[in-house]
Amino acid sequence: MIIVMSPDSTESQVETVIRKIKEAGLEVNISRGVERTVLGAIGDERRLDQELFESLPGVEQAMHIVKPYKIVAREWHKEDTVIDIKGVKLGGKQVQIIAGPCSVETPEQMDKAAQFVVDAGCKLMRGGAFKPRTSPYAFQGHGVEGLDMFRKAAGQHGLPIVTELMDVRMLDTFLEYDVDVIQIGTRNMQNFDLLKEVGKVNKPVILKRGMSATISEWLMAAEYIAAGGNHNIIFCERGVRSYETYYRNMLDVTAIPVLKKETHLPVIVDPSHAGGKAWMVPALSRAAIAAGADGLLVEMHPSPCEAWCDADQALNPQELKDLMGTLRGIAQAIGRDL
Ligand code: PEP
Ligand code: MN
Repeated sequence: MIIVMSPDSTESQVETVIRKIKEAGLEVNISRGVERTVLGAIGDERRLDQELFESLPGVEQAMHIVKPYKIVAREWHKEDTVIDIKGVKLGGKQVQIIAGPCSVETPEQMDKAAQFVVDAGCKLMRGGAFKPRTSPYAFQGHGVEGLDMFRKAAGQHGLPIVTELMDVRMLDTFLEYDVDVIQIGTRNMQNFDLLKEVGKVNKPVILKRGMSATISEWLMAAEYIAAGGNHNIIFCERGVRSYETYYRNMLDVTAIPVLKKETHLPVIVDPSHAGGKAWMVPALSRAAIAAGADGLLVEMHPSPCEAWCDADQALNPQELKDLMGTLRGIAQAIGRDL
């Protein structure tokens, strides 16, 4: 950490800061300029609290020089991490499209959806059994019964499943049903107790971006999972809240190259919850893959206008197939496969 003393700081204020750094077990490098004294703390600076130093009299500014996230940072792990989901590789050369309905509705709907996912050439399936709904009166998902429907339908088509965990008390049930990828939704990105628990299991986790989260907060949320021992984390950009009302959320395409620079973990994009309309999904998907996303999480329903949840944003099976064709061309143009 670098601590810049203000021009009018006194010698005793400088000494107090030096004492605080040494008390934390670090060494100090003192640089006395014409106007300012700058102190460099040498050692494990994560032990130093920036706010505490900035509150000390005579301190103008305190800055960390090392990133506060470690395990997820590319700084400490240069190669891309490839996550293996029952043999399906996410984060490597091949771009993966995860498709399926917003929510698990009926065994027939899930069976049809699984067939369409396979027909389109996708290798992973999504579907929500526990739904985070704005209204308590809206369909909340079938819960455990939904997990059962999903497991059976996807199993028959050899598809690994991705589904959202909202309540830490359901984690054992998710493991019993052998959920292949645990999704943490936007509303739970900073549910730290939930993050700590999924950090203890050996299952890939899709961590969606909080709807108003900065990239740094998002990386720190991932660090919570990683710190528990689970390094199988996939970031999912799903749009952020903005002043615009034309669409549901603003897809932050810029976050893709930023994350690819900051972390070695895979980055995917959910164009469905970003745009909120099916007609926007192809354009947002093309942008995401062109910008370097490792995959997509797309809503597709066998019959969108009958969907129980997010009907307006679901692609129909043919639209998903068409999208796959277009994305293949984009992936190849940037040296990837689909
Ligand atoms: C979802 O993927 O079904 C979902 C609810 O997404 P988000 O958490 O991004 O709103
Ligand atoms: Mn949805």
